[in-house]
Parts: sequence; C-alpha cells; structure tokens
Amino acid sequence: MPVVSSLRPRPPYYDPKQWELRWHPLRGEWVVIAAHRDTRPWKGGSVSRPQKEPEYDPTCYLCPGNTRTTGGVNPRYRTTFAFDNDFPPAGTSSPPQTSSHGLYRAAQAYGRCRVMCFHPRHDLTLATMDVQEIRRVLSMWQREYRLLGEDPRVKHVLIFENKGEITGTSNRHPHCQAYGTTFIFSTIQREIQLAKHFLRRTGKPLYRAVIEQELQDGCRIIARSRNIIAFVPYFARYPYEVHVAPLESRPSIADLAGSEVDDLASVLKVVLVRYDNLFTMPFPYVQVLHQAPTDGTHHPEFHFHIEFFPPLRNPVTLKYLAGPEIGGGNMLSDVAPEEKAKELQVQSDIHYSRRV
Ligand SMILES: [Zn+2]
Repeated sequence: MPVVSSLRPRPPYYDPKQWELRWHPLRGEWVVIAAHRDTRPWKGGSVSRPQKEPEYDPTCYLCPGNTRTTGGVNPRYRTTFAFDNDFPPAGTSSPPQTSSHGLYRAAQAYGRCRVMCFHPRHDLTLATMDVQEIRRVLSMWQREYRLLGEDPRVKHVLIFENKGEITGTSNRHPHCQAYGTTFIFSTIQREIQLAKHFLRRTGKPLYRAVIEQELQDGCRIIARSRNIIAFVPYFARYPYEVHVAPLESRPSIADLAGSEVDDLASVLKVVLVRYDNLFTMPFPYVQVLHQAPTDGTHHPEFHFHIEFFPPLRNPVTLKYLAGPEIGGGNMLSDVAPEEKAKELQVQSDIHYSRRV
C-alpha cells in the first residue's frame, strides 16, 4: 500500500465561480463568496487614476522644512520623521471631565496619536521605495509601538496607513499613523477573544494555524521568505486582500528579530510592487498592523501580522460597502480569493515605472 501521508497534499480544487460561505476564524463570522456574480452588468461609480506627484510640494504639510497649519515646522529630515498629530482624535490634553447618564457611558478621549512620514520625497510610496528604505520605516514602527505603549494608560497601539484618495487620506505624502488609546479597537479585541479560546483548546496561536493551513493549501501564497509569508487568505473579504506575517508567533512588530524585520521589508516590497503592477497605477489600500495590546499582560495567543484592504475591484471600480456589509455586518465578496491570488502571483517583481 502506498504511504499517502508522506505525499505532499494536493491543494483543494476551487471553482473560479465559487459560490459558498467561508468562515472567518479571526472575526468569528461568515463571509459570502459569490464569485458567480462577478460578471454581472455594472452601471455604478468609477474612480480616476491618480495624478503624478512632484518630488517636493511647497503646500504639503509633511514635506521637509514646511510649516504645518498649527505653526509647527518640519525638520529637513532625510530618512523618516514622526511627530504628534496636530489634530489628534485621542490626546493627553483631552477634557478629563466627562458625564455618563443612565445607559449612556462616556470616558476621557485620552491617548497619543502620531504621524509617521516614510520618506522626505513627496512622490514616493512604500512600493517605489527600496528595501532598505522600507526597512527604516519598519524600525520606526517598532520604535513608535514601544513609545506609545510605554504610557501605562495606553492599552493598545493601532498603526495603519490609508493610501490613495479613495481611502480618505488627505495628503499624498507617504505616511501612516499610530493611535495609542485607552481601549482596544474592536477588530483586535474580537481577534484576541477568539485566539485565547483557540489557544486554550489547541495550545496553538490561532493565526499560526491559519498560516499552517495556507501553507498546506499553497494556492493563495503570494510571496514567502525564510521568516515571512504573504498570502490572500481563504476567507478574504476584499478582492485583493493580502496578509503578511512572520512564520513564528510574535506579539508585535517590536518583538521581531532583526532578520525577521529584514525579511518583512523584502516581502512587503514584493507585495506592494505587485499591487502597483496589477493595474499599472499606485494601488490604493488600507494597511493595518494587528498587534497585541500594550496592557501590561502577556499575550501568548497573539500572532502579529499585517492586513491590506484594497478598495478596488478593478482599475476603475470600487468595492462598495452596502446593505450586507454596513447594515448586516458581514462581507459579500464577488470574487474567488484563489483567482485574485493568481492575478497577484503572475505579476512582475519589477515596478512598472522602472521598466523600459
Ligand atoms: Zn509632501
């Protein structure tokens, strides 16, 4: 009898017109995959391609040497630059007195919010920066996570990048933000609860099990190095959703070893270049770092990773959130994650702007 267990498992077959519910283990909810609808007639809105940016913009409040609206002057920084958000949603000077009544509760909007510039050049993006420059950004994220987390009142640090005007960003200069808050954002909170339950049941961090399953299926992997993996998850809610994670469980980016950060920079470069090459345009997305709380307790259940949520279905069409998503709270995806992974897998690793 052949020893079947010694053979590499065959990836499961997925129909390009997949129509099924898929369980999202990190959110504890169903995602409706309805790829058979992808060719339906579309008469909705469209987006225009972004204009080319100058290397330096005298009106940009993030370019080196410029004055911000609050009067602060940026240094002539040469690499990265971080500063306190001039209009923070949560701050140390927020009114300490709040009033609760009956069912309605209020609390001080205490916290610390930072803006992080990736590069002095206004026209670059993470995708067009080199790996060493991306590495410096990752070092900044490590520093800022530690800095904000040091405040005993700050329980969680959310680092995120809104890229592209359709994600609502007000400035094209390559930058992101960090929110250090007294509460844990609900997506992370839910992930922690599910991961704690999974750890108790299996002795393993939940996200590590996701990675093992993705390695076993194999068909949605976009890039992999010795320490880092990038993939379109089986339960993707957005057409080109990509997760990037270390293979070993680390609670936050600050806990990565130097070699892991090096690898993370290289894998991010691959993912971001392929994103841009997909539609030969700067690819818009919301990038979010999922990190353990800074609440002074140990989080063995948590596995740091980065999630990318691109809002585009194709070069000119947005993925709209409507009744099922906004009203019902569950995502309806008109694409098969395996098909979108294939589109990213065949892209070149050389940015389209560098090709002759
Ligand atoms: Zn700028």
